[in-house]
Order: sequence, then C-alpha cells, then structure tokens
Amino acid sequence: MSDRFTATGVDPVSAGLRGRCPACGEGALFKGFIALPEKCSNCGLSYKFADSGDGPAVFVILLAGFLMIGLMFFVEQAYAPPLWLHLVIFIPLTLIVCLGMLRPLKGILIALQYRNKAELGRLEE
Ligand SMILES: [Zn+2]
Repeated sequence: MSDRFTATGVDPVSAGLRGRCPACGEGALFKGFIALPEKCSNCGLSYKFADSGDGPAVFVILLAGFLMIGLMFFVEQAYAPPLWLHLVIFIPLTLIVCLGMLRPLKGILIALQYRNKAELGRLEE
C-alpha cells in the first residue's frame, strides 16, 4: 500500500470545501477554476491520482436541481410572478448556484478519493 494514502488527520470535507490539498490541508488543490496543478505546492503530493470524473457534475445536477426547482415552485405558489420574471430570476440564479457548487464538490470528491484510496480496479498478475 502506498504511503500517500496514510491517515493524515486532514478532514476531507473541510479540505475539499476550502480547495486545499487532501494530504496536508494547506496547499492549493486547484489552479484556475477547477483545473488541478501537477502537485501540491506545500507537501508535493502528486495529484495524478485525482480523477473525480463526472461525479461533481452529477451531485451539482441533483442538489441544484432539487434546490432550484423547489425554490421555483415556492416562488410560483407564494407570489405567482409572470413567466418572464421567473426566467430573469432563475436562469442567472441557477448558473450561480451550479458554478458555485462545482468547485467545492470536486474538492470534496478528490479529498474523499484520496482518503478512501479509491482508484481504478486492477487485475492481479
Ligand atoms: Zn499538500
């Protein structure tokens, strides 16, 4: 077993939400919006293991969909605004909510992948 997966005392949810390295909790996990650098700037952990795939997008779709559709129904029931006002409110709000959730969720999934040693299955020789 690789020592890169040994318990570090870093809370994966906290590190993921803050966009920090899952091993040391200090170095930046992201360069740019959701791109990963080669390695941690603090402890040198290689981020080559990190592959969250479509996971963050799936959680964003499920959580933001639940939240925004619920909010739209509530606004419709409570205020019955015209359709154009729904569009003006909820198209930008949905974009903000989705983009706002994407990075923290990707960080959490990568930190949990690191913590739980999740990787592709391999056949034994
Ligand atoms: Zn680090």
